[in-house]
Amino acid sequence: MPGDADRKRAELEERLKFFSDIGADFIFKPEAKARKTGAPAVPTIPAAIAPPVPPDKSTAALDLGLIRDQILACRKCRLAAGRTQAVPGEGNPAAELMFVGEGPGRDEDLQGRPFVGRAGQLLTKIIEAMKLERSRVFIANMVKCRPPDNRVPQRDEIDFCTPFLVAQIAAIRPKILVSLGKVATDFFVPHAFGGMTSIRGRFYDWNGIPVMPTFHPSYLIRNEGNREIKKMVWDDMKQVLAHLGRT
Ligand code: SF4
Repeated sequence: MPGDADRKRAELEERLKFFSDIGADFIFKPEAKARKTGAPAVPTIPAAIAPPVPPDKSTAALDLGLIRDQILACRKCRLAAGRTQAVPGEGNPAAELMFVGEGPGRDEDLQGRPFVGRAGQLLTKIIEAMKLERSRVFIANMVKCRPPDNRVPQRDEIDFCTPFLVAQIAAIRPKILVSLGKVATDFFVPHAFGGMTSIRGRFYDWNGIPVMPTFHPSYLIRNEGNREIKKMVWDDMKQVLAHLGRT
């Protein structure tokens, strides 16, 4: 039976390997080119993106609780029929950063929590690589009930469900939204054409909140050996950190 020290060492080695794979070592030091030229080490944020109005955080938790109750009782679309339970989302009502994915998968449906399966574990590692904690951000999905066989949510299901997401965002009023994958990105950036590779990597505006599109963690898992995709995700997160003043 491995002891605590062995288990912690194994966890640390696994985390360091992930940081290395994802290129996380780039974030904690200025880029050589930027130092040489005197240019900023991180990309600047477009001036058009205005900082959001600070929300009243004392009411955010209350609002989120009410929204959660409505989601748990909701049967507005066909996805209610196949769910074990709805997955409202979770996190800090005062979160500066909010991640939005597509919809719950099998593990999320069983546990009633967002991003707890394999893709969720990877998202947690990305959040930790940003020197943040899951409990400090808010994590939600476009649709709150699991689509059968993890299919892509249909247009009407998204239309029925996204008022909940919009209400959550209005309650939290995060400084930045990160859309994970094409379905979430299409909601926040409907005018952007092309695949994620061409859309990601820059901020867009959604009702005064900057949105950074990036690849869904499940896409990273499906392309596990592709270091370039990991690097792109990390570059996106570096921009997010820069905007939050954390570099
Ligand atoms: S997916 Fe959304 S709209 Fe559909 S039943 Fe679940 S909570 Fe209601």
